[in-house]
Amino acid sequence: MNTIAQRLAQIRARITQAEQRYQRPPGSVKLLAVSKTRPLAELQNLNNLGQSSFAENYLQDALPKIAKLNSAIVWHFIGPLQSNKTRPVAEHFHWLHTLERLKIARRLNDQRPTDLPPLNVCIQVNISADPNKSGLAADATEDLAHELAALPHLRLRGLMTLPRRHNDFEQQRQPFRELHELYIRLCQQGFELDTLSMGMTDDLEAAIAEGSTLVRIGTGLFGPRKSSQETL
Ligand SMILES: *Cc1c(COP(=O)(O)O)cnc(C)c1O
Repeated sequence: MNTIAQRLAQIRARITQAEQRYQRPPGSVKLLAVSKTRPLAELQNLNNLGQSSFAENYLQDALPKIAKLNSAIVWHFIGPLQSNKTRPVAEHFHWLHTLERLKIARRLNDQRPTDLPPLNVCIQVNISADPNKSGLAADATEDLAHELAALPHLRLRGLMTLPRRHNDFEQQRQPFRELHELYIRLCQQGFELDTLSMGMTDDLEAAIAEGSTLVRIGTGLFGPRKSSQETL
């Protein structure tokens, strides 16, 4: 049976190998541990092994963990966010990956405590225009990015995508390549971005090949989730 320590070592090795294979600078891809539905003790365990960034999808599940764990942990919210649930994200998280509406952005900006640094945000892009996936259309992303620039308590860091699962490596790469191209266009417009949040347990190599800077890994670190919790 795999322990969390073994899984962490395996994921770190996969990231390092992919950096080498695809000519990415060493250490340019960060590991975000997706701890949705996992018990506090497992997060504690992983934190003791040196993992300091965690991502959660469900507020009810996340808030007690945030209250109990090491205050040095960096918390990322990666679940869908409704406008009536923005306050706990503004107050307790460091990052939001799933921003796709100005209305939500304005609420987060108003609710961000002024003694905290700005909330780091990534715009979630539905890069393949998949009707079953959330995220903003690629051609609407630049407008939202401009609007965010007027919100001082948010800091736009980059783009995130959650593509349809594919087994084929070339098919995995395609949406990541398109997100990277969009990211470069925004950088050329003058946006100072440093984060491409893409890649999960089954497609992290494809994402790293296409420029990911942050892979979001759940099952690869914690083992399989119960099937009812597998999808969002
Ligand atoms: C659950 C989840 C992940 C992690 O997926 P794994 O396949 O378990 O690595 C990554 N990103 C988002 C948005 C998720 O909801």
